[in-house]
Amino acid sequence: MKLPSDQDSSGRTLGAEELELLKNVIESGTLTSTKGQYVKQLEAEFARVLGGKYAYACSSGTAAIHCAVAAVNPEPGDEIITTSITDMGGLTPIIYQGAVPVFADVDPETYNVTARSIEKVISERTKAIVVTHLFGNPCDMAPIRELADRHGLPIIEDCAQAFLSTYREENIGTIGDIGCFSLQQGKHITTGEGGLVVTNNEDFARHMFLYINKAWGYGDKNPDHYFAALNYRMTELQGAVALAQLNKLQDVVASRTRLADSLTLQLSDIAGISTPTITPDSTHTYWKYCLNVDASVIEGGSPALGQALRDKGIACAPRYIQKPAFECQVIRDQVTFGTSRWPFSLARPEAVDYSREKYEGTYKALEHVLVIAFNECYTDEHVGFIADAVREAAAALKIQQQPA
Ligand SMILES: *Cc1c(COP(=O)(O)O)cnc(C)c1O
Repeated sequence: MKLPSDQDSSGRTLGAEELELLKNVIESGTLTSTKGQYVKQLEAEFARVLGGKYAYACSSGTAAIHCAVAAVNPEPGDEIITTSITDMGGLTPIIYQGAVPVFADVDPETYNVTARSIEKVISERTKAIVVTHLFGNPCDMAPIRELADRHGLPIIEDCAQAFLSTYREENIGTIGDIGCFSLQQGKHITTGEGGLVVTNNEDFARHMFLYINKAWGYGDKNPDHYFAALNYRMTELQGAVALAQLNKLQDVVASRTRLADSLTLQLSDIAGISTPTITPDSTHTYWKYCLNVDASVIEGGSPALGQALRDKGIACAPRYIQKPAFECQVIRDQVTFGTSRWPFSLARPEAVDYSREKYEGTYKALEHVLVIAFNECYTDEHVGFIADAVREAAAALKIQQQPA
């Protein structure tokens, strides 16, 4: 059986609606968002859907994170707390803005940072906290919000994998101070590349709007380029596609949730395998579907089970990003600007101490996680096929109990 894939039309919701709006853009001849209407409409509509006051579109999820980090305006060498398991696009913007990424450990069951793991790495240099709602499962935000408020720190939510996930009935992305989203090919909705930021804070909104636009004061009486910023604008072509995609988001999320709940039900009784641990009072929107594989029960653990699934054509990633983000060359060797190592050159030694014992949850999570591709275009038959494949592989790999 061939499963729909988010890398082509089999597993994407792109169609007539996108084509129609795209055609309007081409016929108008106005491809820039500074003059066109679609990006503006997308921003208004996204703010409405999320329940945030201001939203801006930009060129990628990485750009969205960069805008958010720029908005909190760190001094060189300030620290921004983030997570050890994430996409590099959530990290390099911190470095580009002159701040030092400081890694909080994760809960090995949810793969997310927690108030406790964040608190351990807060210092007098901390400027902001980035939380990533990994795979669509929200972080436990109430204690994180409480901790951040106690220290006067803004929270940036990386929601690239968590469109319309909710926590205590609020949309993820509106609980912290700034929410960042990605429209990259493999996300819930896509424009190939693209990003969105959302905030209720007027100052952050203004700063992010400017940051996307080379800090040119559009609409001001005496506009100028106010500070160092890039061109992170989305084009009208992307805006048109994004607007049509946004109309489909609710259905995409409903479909993923229904299918994932069904898969969880079918996999609930397999020894050595645990289904996703959902944060209390939350909804998980299943960017991916993750299993924890117990290597003391399943021979070879996550890699062996993953190989068995791949043999049946089921796309999956044992151990997700393989290693904690701080073991990637860019961070491990501090490869930044020339040979300067800046801004790591300004870091406190503890801020860049990646000793293994500080990251027990991270290593455990990466050891046992098996990330299975998930898609709104799956049918019940596809889900049944995945469930059967997992069950059969788990049975074949089950370690026999030694007689006492
Ligand atoms: C995809 C992703 C990003 C980066 O988004 P791009 O659009 O690829 O730049 C950042 N953070 C997380 C958690 C992601 O999944």
